[in-house]
Amino acid sequence: MLVNLKDMLCEAEQKGYAIPCMNTPNMETLRALIGAAEDLNTPIIIDHAEVHNSLIPIERMGPEMVKAAKAAKVPVCVHLDHGVSYTFLMKALEAGFSSIMFDCSSLPFEENVKRVKEFTEFAHSRGITVEAELGVMASAMEDTHAGEDAEKRVLTNADIRKFFTDPKEAGEFAERTGCDALAVCFGTMHGIYAEPPVLDIDRVKEIRSAVKDDCRIVMHGASGVEFEQVQRAIDAGCSKVNYYSYMAKGATQFCADKIAETKGAVAYHELAEAAYEYMRGYARDVLRAFRNGK
Ligand SMILES: [Zn+2]
Repeated sequence: MLVNLKDMLCEAEQKGYAIPCMNTPNMETLRALIGAAEDLNTPIIIDHAEVHNSLIPIERMGPEMVKAAKAAKVPVCVHLDHGVSYTFLMKALEAGFSSIMFDCSSLPFEENVKRVKEFTEFAHSRGITVEAELGVMASAMEDTHAGEDAEKRVLTNADIRKFFTDPKEAGEFAERTGCDALAVCFGTMHGIYAEPPVLDIDRVKEIRSAVKDDCRIVMHGASGVEFEQVQRAIDAGCSKVNYYSYMAKGATQFCADKIAETKGAVAYHELAEAAYEYMRGYARDVLRAFRNGK
C-alpha cells in the first residue's frame, strides 16, 4: 500500500529502527526492493532522484513506482530524492508520489527556510510529506547523484566537517518550515568513499534533541558505511536512511562475475533477472540491518 513518510517514520522512531530509502532507476531495482520488503514483511521507501532522470524520466518510472507501491503487501512510500526545481517537484506530484524531498541546501539559510516553508504548506494540503536538507552533503568519488558535470575530487573526512549541520539551526529550521523530515550532515557523503567514513554520532544526538519530535532525522550516503556505524546513527535518532550506491556497485560486480563465469554465454535478459535476484537479497540484508532485530 502507498503511504507517506509521516506514519511510517513515526512508528520506526518509536520502536528504535530505521527504514531504508533506496533509488529505483529501473524495473529490476523496483521489483527487488519491493520484493525484499515483502519477503521480510517490513515497510520500505523507494525513490526517484532528479539526477537519475537522464537515465529514465520520472514520467516513465514514476507511475510504475506508484503502481508497484499500491499493489505491495507492505507499506511503501514513493519519494522524490533531492528535488531541486519546481518543475520537477510538480512532475513528482503528477506521478502520484506520496512524499517529496525539496533540496534547497545550496541556498542561504533564510532562503532555504522560505522556500521549504512555502512548499510544505502546499504539499501538506495535498497529504504529501516533505523532506528538506540542512548542511551540505558532499560528493565522494563516483557519485551517482552528482550528474556528469560534478567536480571530480577526493574529499577527506576532515574536509567535510565544515559542511556539517548545526544543531541549533536544525531546530529553528524544522520549527519554522514545518517539514516532516530533515536530511542532516554528520560525516557521510554521496557515492563511493575514498576512505572509510567516520560519523559524528554526538552531532546526531544533538540534532535529534534540538529538532521538534514530529520532524524525523534523515541520513544520506549510508551505503559504504559499515553497518555498525549506521546502527549507532539509528540509535542516535536517524529513522530514514538513504542507501543506494554500494548496492548498484555490488550488482555491477555480480554481473561482471556472471559474464566471466559463463564466458559471455548469457543473454541480457537472464543477466538482468539474475541481477534482480542479487539486489533482492542485498536489500533484505539492508532492511534487516536497519531494523537491528526489531
Ligand atoms: Zn542524498
